[in-house]
Amino acid sequence: MPFVPKNTMLVFLISVMVTGCINSSNLTSNYNDDLVPDVNWSLIDSIDINQINSDLVNGKPTVDIGIYFPSNLDSTFTKVTFNKMIESFLFAKEIFKPTDVQLKLLFAKTGNINSSYLSMQANETPGIPDTEYVNLYENSRRHPSIPTAHAINAFRSIVEKDINNSRTIYLIALQDVFYPFLTLAEGRNWMMKTVRTGGLSFPSYSYVDQIPNELRGVITITNLSTEDRYRKTIAHELGHKLINVSHEYNDINPGFEVFAEGGLMLYGSGEDIPSGKEGRWHLERLQLSPYLYKIDESGNKIWNDDYKESGHYYDPIYDNYVIHFLPEPPINDDW
Ligand SMILES: [Zn+2]
Repeated sequence: MPFVPKNTMLVFLISVMVTGCINSSNLTSNYNDDLVPDVNWSLIDSIDINQINSDLVNGKPTVDIGIYFPSNLDSTFTKVTFNKMIESFLFAKEIFKPTDVQLKLLFAKTGNINSSYLSMQANETPGIPDTEYVNLYENSRRHPSIPTAHAINAFRSIVEKDINNSRTIYLIALQDVFYPFLTLAEGRNWMMKTVRTGGLSFPSYSYVDQIPNELRGVITITNLSTEDRYRKTIAHELGHKLINVSHEYNDINPGFEVFAEGGLMLYGSGEDIPSGKEGRWHLERLQLSPYLYKIDESGNKIWNDDYKESGHYYDPIYDNYVIHFLPEPPINDDW
């Protein structure tokens, strides 16, 4: 401090000024958001997009997908490579093929992003754990995940403006995306954990109206390093986004991490997208996704209806294609 003021009023004024200053800098953030205000993207020409899309048929339900692959990933980061990204995309096409839903690669681009965005915390630390009174989806509607300002700023700088932003899926390769969540410690005590995700789909059943419409199609991809991971990761994340469900399958109710064999939406080697009530309406929900369109005879894109209530699990667009299930009490009855 340059001088010590003798006047107490002056001390008061200075402390207000200093406090105000600290508060406002806290609000802005703790990262360098002005390093790269906008990304100068260029097309990656090592792949033949027309060839990748050559199996697409007009009249079938289709999803548009763009890939952003930063050129300034750290040289020590090898969990995601561009080739793995494309291979995983091609596997996703295969996995969705039995459903008749086609994945169209719109573009694959590279460019320097603000290096603070290579690692991010996806959502704010939740303050309220799951209750025993309503199920996971009803609870998510009441208390949606809230993306951090850092994540939103990152996606705003990465995703280029387009009339169909809210109907397009953007696969963004990053290095670390952390997802904080509350889990039972013991008794009635909860603790916060944060998981380093391999892919995160920012799904509507979880984020509901908290993510700007033009960014709701973002999926981050951060680990394709093992054989089973890179085969299934993009398809699984697309499943969260397009089927709009958590980890669930047939008689397995959704949960944060469910390790079991079976469907695409569990952590296991399953790739099945089941239909009917016994399949928790996965196929039917997929077919209703607002990210799907069909090309009509005149070449126009006819989009599915958009969500009516920001895409929570029970959004009216799903009508009866929902499961009403009871919550499992997270804490011991004695409490
Ligand atoms: Zn998942």
